[in-house]
Amino acid sequence: MNKQNDIDSLIAFLDRSPTAWHAVENLREELRKAHFQELHEGDSWKLTPGGRYYLTRNGSTLCAFVMPTGSPKSLRLLGSHTDSPAFKLKPQAEFLKENMLMLGVEIYGGPLLTSWLNRDLGIAGRVVLRDKKGHLRTELVTLDQNPVVIPQLAIHLDRTVNEDGLKLQKQEHLAALAALDIEADKKSGKTHYLETLLKEQYSFEEWVSGELFLYPLEGARLMGYQKQMISSYRLDNLASVFASAQALLGIKKPSKDQLQMAFFWDNEEVGSGTAQGAHSPFLMQTLERICLASKIEREGFLRLLSQGICLSVDLAHALHPNYNDKHEPRHPTLMNKGIVLKTNAQQRYASDAVTTGLIAGLCKERKIPFQYFIPRNDIPSGSTIGPINAQVTGMTTLDLGCVELSMHSARELAAVEDLMNLTKLLGAFLGG
Ligand code: ZN
Repeated sequence: MNKQNDIDSLIAFLDRSPTAWHAVENLREELRKAHFQELHEGDSWKLTPGGRYYLTRNGSTLCAFVMPTGSPKSLRLLGSHTDSPAFKLKPQAEFLKENMLMLGVEIYGGPLLTSWLNRDLGIAGRVVLRDKKGHLRTELVTLDQNPVVIPQLAIHLDRTVNEDGLKLQKQEHLAALAALDIEADKKSGKTHYLETLLKEQYSFEEWVSGELFLYPLEGARLMGYQKQMISSYRLDNLASVFASAQALLGIKKPSKDQLQMAFFWDNEEVGSGTAQGAHSPFLMQTLERICLASKIEREGFLRLLSQGICLSVDLAHALHPNYNDKHEPRHPTLMNKGIVLKTNAQQRYASDAVTTGLIAGLCKERKIPFQYFIPRNDIPSGSTIGPINAQVTGMTTLDLGCVELSMHSARELAAVEDLMNLTKLLGAFLGG
C-alpha cells in the first residue's frame, strides 16, 4: 500500500465508523477480505498452524490474531479502543418544548461538551427490532439524512460568555433539536419521530430498544499546508485502531512460535469495566482457548503469558501552541515529530525502562522518530488500557501513540506523518 492509499482508507474508515459497533463491523470486513476466519465464543475451536482468525464480543470489541506455524511460545499484542466520548440518546429521548421536538441525551465518557454545539449531528448505533412474525433482530443503523443540532444560546442572551466561558448545565442545556411542529399521539401524548425515521430506512414492525449516539456529520479531512494534518471526530482512538489493524493485516508470513494479536476494546472511555472492556476476561479467555486448541496445558499457557509483550496504543496531547504552560516544559510533544512513548510515575501508563528501551531501540533501527510524553506534576495524568492490560494479564506493557490537539472534542487534529510512522512501528513490533 502506498501513503495516499493509506490516507484514503483511514479517512473512509473514520467516516464509516460513527460508533464502536460500526468500527468493529468495518474491521470485520477488512479482515474477511484478507482471509481471516471468524471464530465464535460459543463454538468449539479448531485452529490451524499459521491460520488467521478473529472474534468479536458484543459486536463492539474485536480480537484478531495470526497463529504461528509451530506451538505458540511468546505473544506480541496490540491494544487500542473502539469507543470515543459521545452523546447518547436516552431510552425515551423525545420530548416537546413548545413546537420543537427535542432529543434528550446522556453523556458517554468525557467529551468537550461545548465542541458539540452548533454542529450538524447524525444519529447512529444499534437497535433491536421486531419483525411481523414477532422475531427480534439487532441492526446497526445510521440516520444521516435529518441532522439534529444542539444550538448555543446567542451572545445577546449571554452577554459575558466570552469573558466567563460557556457553562453548560448537563441536564438542561444539552438536548438536541430534531424537528418542528411534530404532532404527539392523541392517546399516549408521545411522539414517534425516531421510529418513523428508522422505518423510512429499515423494514420492521416495532422498534424494541436501542443504543443510539449523536455524531458530527462533517467528515474527516486533511488540513493545512501540504495536507500535513488530519481533522476528524474519533481520531482518539480510531487512528490507533486503524494503525493496529494495518500492522496485523500487513503480516506476510506467520512466525515460527510467536502469536501475533491485536485487541480493539470497547468502553475505554467509561473505565473499561464491562463484559467487552479491557477489564473483562475476554483476552485471558481467548488466550486460554488458543492454548487449549493448540493442545497446550496450563503450564504452557502461563509460560506463554510470561513471554507476552503488549503495546497499548492511544492518543496523547500535542503541545498546544496557545497554552504552552499546560505542558511539561522539558518534554514538549509536537505534531509531526514522531510517536510518543508515555511514562508516568503514578503508573497511569504501564511503560517501564525495559519496554521503553525495547521500543526506542526498534524506532532507532527503523528510523522512526519518537518523543517522550509525561504530564506536568500539577496536572493529573490521563490513562488508558495499558495499566489495565498489565493488571489483568501480568504482561509486560508499554503505552505509546500519536499526539493530537483538541482531545475529546467533536473534532480532533493530528499529523498524518505521525500516523504513518505509528503503522510502521506497530508492523515492525508484530514482526510483519
Ligand atoms: Zn483514547
